[in-house]
Amino acid sequence: MVHQRERSQRSLTRSRRRHDVRHIFVAVLGQTPQIVTETLYALMVERRIPISEVFVITTRVGAQRARRDLLDPETGQFFAFCREYGLDPGAIAFDEKHILTIKMLASKRVRPSKGAAARPNQQADLELEDIRTVEDNRCLAEQLLGIIRRLTEDPNTVVHGSIAGGRKTMSAYMLLAFSLYGREKDRLYHVLVPPPFENNPQFFFPPRRERVIGIGVGQVASTREARIDLAEIPFVRLRPWVLKEKGVQKTIEQQIRIVQRQLNLRAPEWESLVIDYRMRQARWGDRTLPISGVKLALLAYFAERRADHLRHARGRKAHDLCPLCFQGFSDFDLNRYRTLYQHFVSQQVQKIELGPDLFLSYRSKLNRVLAREGLPRELQIVNISATPRHARYGLRLEPRRIRLDFRPQ
Ligand SMILES: [Zn+2]
Repeated sequence: MVHQRERSQRSLTRSRRRHDVRHIFVAVLGQTPQIVTETLYALMVERRIPISEVFVITTRVGAQRARRDLLDPETGQFFAFCREYGLDPGAIAFDEKHILTIKMLASKRVRPSKGAAARPNQQADLELEDIRTVEDNRCLAEQLLGIIRRLTEDPNTVVHGSIAGGRKTMSAYMLLAFSLYGREKDRLYHVLVPPPFENNPQFFFPPRRERVIGIGVGQVASTREARIDLAEIPFVRLRPWVLKEKGVQKTIEQQIRIVQRQLNLRAPEWESLVIDYRMRQARWGDRTLPISGVKLALLAYFAERRADHLRHARGRKAHDLCPLCFQGFSDFDLNRYRTLYQHFVSQQVQKIELGPDLFLSYRSKLNRVLAREGLPRELQIVNISATPRHARYGLRLEPRRIRLDFRPQ
């Protein structure tokens, strides 16, 4: 019995450990290392998220600042922050190795000639001083995205990112990296600190007890005023589309092109006009349109013509002026319209009254509803002719984006 309990206890701890989630914080950083401790304060103290590893993505200058201001064993603010809030700095992996400096990429490097020994400081020489040129940006993009990809590979981690520091391109690529690789549980933030404290070299986090610090010549402010706001940045998660191409080394531009192409291919499924004859309704994607009766019959009539374009134009493209998609009133196929009217409005009616005035009145009612609902203009029945005399009506919607479900003959 005892044995068994011990064993199950042991396996419980083991399985719990296996499922233990590690919270990682990663920030892009320029010359304001404060944002690291400010964000750690908001995450660890205010939100009680147990961050166990911190990474900083930066340039050579930013790395120097981070080492000096955050990681100096005596004066480093990261240690000051841990002391202030009783956190064990040994339990948070953040050291020299966690400062990731963007380097010049291989293609640009001058290769050392064969046999020549690599100089010891070669590594440091390759670190980028700042992000200024197009080439610098390319290096930044490749490396930053690579870092976020690696950090999000482990299913037992939650990655908390910050876009608050560094140049604007660094923030932009951080957002892109999270869009490409971020998982449901990962989060992205921007830390907001009130003006006298923002970028203030004396302020790294709100202390437990109020302190007065200098905020410019002869002026002081109490840290009681230093409210830290952590804004969560929402982002679109494209990860499932990216990972299809796993294993193949591709540049960022290629990866983005692939994702875009995949999304474009699928887009018609998500955003298409569905005329559902059985349910007697029209839908845009998963949204049911608030139209019925004659308006629905008219929309169905023009949707059918438009959907037929691929066949009646035999692959020809100029469909924005297609004479079969866009018809003058006298060309209307009233037989087809009657079938649709009987289907959507009333089976009892045998003779259809549809004069030009009545048609125009229903058309404008339909278009008004669609506009009011914020639906795309391509769903409206438009007149493509400039002169009222030769009015031609139809739907501009791309024919591939029309689906006719359970269409009666
Ligand atoms: Zn056509």
